[in-house]
Amino acid sequence: MNDIWIMRIGHRPERDKRVTTHVALSSRALGAKGIYVDTYDPVLEENIHSVVDRFGGDYQIKTGVGWKEAIKDFHGKIVHLTMYGQQVVDAIPKIPKDEDIMIIVGASKVPFEVYERADFNVSVGNQPHSEIAALAIFLDRYTEGNALYEDRHGKMTVIPNERGKTVANSD
Ligand code: SAM
Repeated sequence: MNDIWIMRIGHRPERDKRVTTHVALSSRALGAKGIYVDTYDPVLEENIHSVVDRFGGDYQIKTGVGWKEAIKDFHGKIVHLTMYGQQVVDAIPKIPKDEDIMIIVGASKVPFEVYERADFNVSVGNQPHSEIAALAIFLDRYTEGNALYEDRHGKMTVIPNERGKTVANSD
């Protein structure tokens, strides 16, 4: 499988910390390799590292990286999630699976340059909603659900349970 990167633009540490944390955690759970966040936020980095440390995988986070810088040396396709884009069902078959992709999601207003630079402007419905929801639906469709129960070889592994909570701890 190719690598999937997320680029989060417009992150305001005070206002967006919970949403950006969930953008990172959801994308990790749904198969992304890592996230770039445009505003430097060491607390956010620490929170994501702590989850990776306990639950495994090699998800990466780098904050303080603008979108232009992130895509400069990126060899792959740029996907921008926006309610104004082409419908997700039409876009998915056109987006390659043998090339890395970088998915841009906004926090507030996204510069028009992003729409121009993106290889694919993709909508998940044409109503305004949330970057977390848009990303989760896009990733689940793009990966065909394959990332959901991947073994991350973490210190902690959740064992599926009809009722109750079972967690295997390797420590
Ligand atoms: N007001 C902002 C604008 O128009 O630029 C949008 C803010 S929205 C809360 C934040 C992000 O969620 C957007 O930048 C986009 O990435 C994503 N988003 C929201 N609704 C979407 C939709 N229907 N399809 C795809 N992405 C969506």
